[in-house]
Amino acid sequence: MCDILIKNAYVITMGSDDRVLRDGAIAIEGNRILDVGSSKEIMTSYDAKEEIDARDMIAIPGLINAHTHIAMCIISRIGRELKDRLYRIYWPMEKAWIPEDCYKAALMGAAEALLFGTTCVVDHYFFMEEIAKATTELGIRGVLGHTIMTEDGPWVGKSEFEEGVNFVKRWKEKHPLVFPCLAPHAPDTVSPDWLEELRKIANEQNVKIHMHLSQSMREVRKVRGPWGRGARSPVDLLHRLKVLGPDLIAVHCIHIDEQDMKLLSQTGTNVVYCPSTYALGGSYANAAKMIESGIRVLIGTDARPADMIGEMRAAAMTQRQLTGNPSAMGFKDLLKMATIDAAEALGLGDKLGSIEKGKLADLILISMKRPHMNPRFDPCANVIYNALGSDVDTVIVDGKIVVKRGSLTKLDVESVVSLGREAARDLVRRATEIDPSLKQLVN
Ligand SMILES: [Zn+2]
Repeated sequence: MCDILIKNAYVITMGSDDRVLRDGAIAIEGNRILDVGSSKEIMTSYDAKEEIDARDMIAIPGLINAHTHIAMCIISRIGRELKDRLYRIYWPMEKAWIPEDCYKAALMGAAEALLFGTTCVVDHYFFMEEIAKATTELGIRGVLGHTIMTEDGPWVGKSEFEEGVNFVKRWKEKHPLVFPCLAPHAPDTVSPDWLEELRKIANEQNVKIHMHLSQSMREVRKVRGPWGRGARSPVDLLHRLKVLGPDLIAVHCIHIDEQDMKLLSQTGTNVVYCPSTYALGGSYANAAKMIESGIRVLIGTDARPADMIGEMRAAAMTQRQLTGNPSAMGFKDLLKMATIDAAEALGLGDKLGSIEKGKLADLILISMKRPHMNPRFDPCANVIYNALGSDVDTVIVDGKIVVKRGSLTKLDVESVVSLGREAARDLVRRATEIDPSLKQLVN
């Protein structure tokens, strides 16, 4: 007996044996994968409380978005063609957040992510308690960290530091869907003293550190000045402070040189690549070169929860354009980066990232019924080169069906959108009251 039995699927397991089942089935019991095999084998071995006929569907492990700020789904849709959006739009708008609106925005962001097949978000933001409330309510998994900034940003100071640390203590092993981590903002906004302290706390608490690194020239310039204690670059500063390491999820690494790349590789630091954000903002990062240097690179969408399927494709497109190599970031590698590699980087490789016996049941079914998914010479290649987020039919997180036939099961999508729109309206009103010059930027 099992709770859910998925049958007749094209299963891409992403397991260590790289197994693909053309007519496969998956048995789920509680929050775990009980068995994986051919439809015939599994159907003779198990009766199920609920059966899902996944004919014409691909089953893959749930996608892990390695860097996002889901509540920013609202803010990221403002002033989309402006230069320096972080400083001109994001920070001034973020000053106007109140917890309730952040919760509503996170709910809409989490819904966007889930409906597009993301089962786990690695989220870095202010008011993280509200975001955790939203993610657990909708049933998406989260590696969550409350943003810590010493200066320069919208929410700064010792109280944010304390909240960042307390968030970890409050949520550690408290909820099956939440893995807390520490989230210092970046090397130019968090003082070296605080970074040293946070490294100690991460070691004591045995949690990951998730932070932006080398994301702007403004950051590089500040670190090269008195702030950086003589460091050559932001990567060098983190190296001197012993923050680099396999437990660091370093996001962006746009402005780095050969020496920085060597440091990232030697320390086993993980780097997150967010291709659409860079391309739309007019910049780029050398992700293919980082991979060549031995760095583990993951995929993220940054200031929007967005469509991870589209983001994997954007990664291939941008790196091939940059390198002139049509096989840079192959489709199998991309799927690995968004599943098992991400799980391993998060220290969850034994629990997530592949469809294997004993792992937590986080997986998605993608429909192959529409023309753009046919013919099916290689369904795995079709996922990267042809699929759309809207082809995601079913999403299972922790053994629970959270998206069924393209609809959320826990909350009604229309009410989630209406809450998100309400939060956007209120946030814009408050932000423009604080700073009337923002009015002309809000379109
Ligand atoms: Zn970010």
